[in-house]
Amino acid sequence: MINIILFGPPGSGKGTQAEFIIKQHALIHISTGDIFRKNIAQKTKLGKLASEFMNKGELVPDKLTIDLLESEIDNYSDANGFVFDGFPRTLAQADAFKNFLNGKKIPLSAVISLEVGEHELVSRLLKRGIDSGREDDKNTDIIRQRIQVYEKQTSILKTYYSNNLENNFFPINGERSIDIISEDIMQILSNY
Ligand code: AMP
Repeated sequence: MINIILFGPPGSGKGTQAEFIIKQHALIHISTGDIFRKNIAQKTKLGKLASEFMNKGELVPDKLTIDLLESEIDNYSDANGFVFDGFPRTLAQADAFKNFLNGKKIPLSAVISLEVGEHELVSRLLKRGIDSGREDDKNTDIIRQRIQVYEKQTSILKTYYSNNLENNFFPINGERSIDIISEDIMQILSNY
């Protein structure tokens, strides 16, 4: 089983790279952001609650997000493995995730961290807002808020995983072309 966390700020290319990895390795892509957006589109209770935070560029509360993630994993009992995209985003999520995976004897293989500077992130997200119509990508204030939330609450997990996973934490330069980054990731994963 290969289980990978694709880590990085909003707009760093996690979703794009996740699509390549799942095809190459026949894995399941779990994006908490996509699950929230699906719930918003279907007008579920969870979607209504999540949208209150997402519209402001804030994180959805940990308990809700962790429960959602765990029940999503439980839907795929015979999976080859998973690519986690946009989860975990806080220390509490990372700790809960660790306990959950340990309990299920699911190994965490690698954390790949896509490193992209703020200037590039803002311009990519604004472009995505135009191309995809994603609400939280249309407004510069919300975009900057999401990047700040990443810096304050999420980026700390780089230290967490480089300490916890040692040689299986891979920071990579995410400001290069999609193909070159993808080749780098394939190279890393060929060792698993
Ligand atoms: P994303 O598609 O990963 O950029 O996520 C879009 C939005 O969904 C984020 O700005 C958060 O409001 C929410 N979200 C996604 N994943 C998480 C998470 N792991 N924890 C809390 N909120 C999340």
